[in-house]
Amino acid sequence: MKTAVFSARRYDQALFAKANAQAGHELVFFQDRLTPETARQAAGCPAVCVFVNDQVDAQVLGLLAAQGTRLVATRSTGFNHIDAAAAAAVGIAVVRVTDYSPHSVAEFAVGLLLALNRRIARASMRTREGNFELDGLMGFDLHGKTVGVIGTGKIGSIFARIMLGFGCTVLGHDMDPKPAFEQMGGRYVGVAELVAASHVVSLHCPLTDATRHIVDAKLLASTRRGAILVNTSRGALVDTDAAIQALKTGQLGGLAIDVYEQEASLFFQDLSSTIITDDVIQRLVSFPNVIVTGHQAFLTEEAIGQIVQTTLESITAFERGTALLNRIPATP
Ligand code: NAD
Repeated sequence: MKTAVFSARRYDQALFAKANAQAGHELVFFQDRLTPETARQAAGCPAVCVFVNDQVDAQVLGLLAAQGTRLVATRSTGFNHIDAAAAAAVGIAVVRVTDYSPHSVAEFAVGLLLALNRRIARASMRTREGNFELDGLMGFDLHGKTVGVIGTGKIGSIFARIMLGFGCTVLGHDMDPKPAFEQMGGRYVGVAELVAASHVVSLHCPLTDATRHIVDAKLLASTRRGAILVNTSRGALVDTDAAIQALKTGQLGGLAIDVYEQEASLFFQDLSSTIITDDVIQRLVSFPNVIVTGHQAFLTEEAIGQIVQTTLESITAFERGTALLNRIPATP
């Protein structure tokens, strides 16, 4: 099936090309994000494949439908970037990748936490300059500390298990508590109790109306002073301006993020030779106790391999008219 693949990086193209040798679809790759301006590139493609920062709103879906697109396949677990009701209204089915290595994201969250707490990125930058000074690199033992996990699903539960292995007390908050979390040694509490007690808070819930800015000025004011916040889930879970204020006062002791509310116009591109006009991200990266990565937590061979495989299987199923296993419902 002819498929327009948007936001296709070199690694996407290489892995898709390899896996598609068997599936035999006609894949057309575009480095561009899907937007109203680039949507016309998908003319004549019954399937369109997108990623997290592509614009898949009512306007774009209308344009795609008018050009004959009938399937949108997102190479992600999260689907907050897709207007599923609008897709249903114009007769477009939407699929995602429900399951791909949750270890990729959980392990990355641990990596961010260690890099921030133990100042590993800072130290590495120093030694490249011939500076072997240790002042300013003090961290704290994770062993014996309390770690709060908001969202204890596939990724959050693996993160929790790793933290238990470090010898941490692990608290969880989830609107749908999982017995396995308690069986492994976690304890569920309300979100207020979780942030008040935790030295580290890690976000692993999806972005929904209920979780948008779940970390806001009010919640930050009630966190344990000097706590570290890790967000590998979705940028809009955190009110970034409120986080900056909390960093300035020391209420927040550190921030490690792989996702950013306004990431769509920044991430997945090399802007190193341009003037970045987003003052918020520039302020964030100026803090010594902030680490920002560009939405790379999923980027392991295992995860990408599964993403590519599942996406091609979904396109094949759609072409053959068989059941779409990873379909996103029109209403949540
Ligand atoms: P999951 O569905 O297995 O787990 C999500 C958990 O959040 C569930 O237990 C759910 O009950 C809970 N939850 C939902 N709404 C909640 C609320 N209002 N309050 C508290 N808990 C709530 O999902 P997952 O596979 O663990 O992925 C979690 C998120 O990670 C995804 O939604 C996505 O946004 C993000 N993610 C990021 C990357 C990356 O590269 N940075 C990659 C994959 C996924």
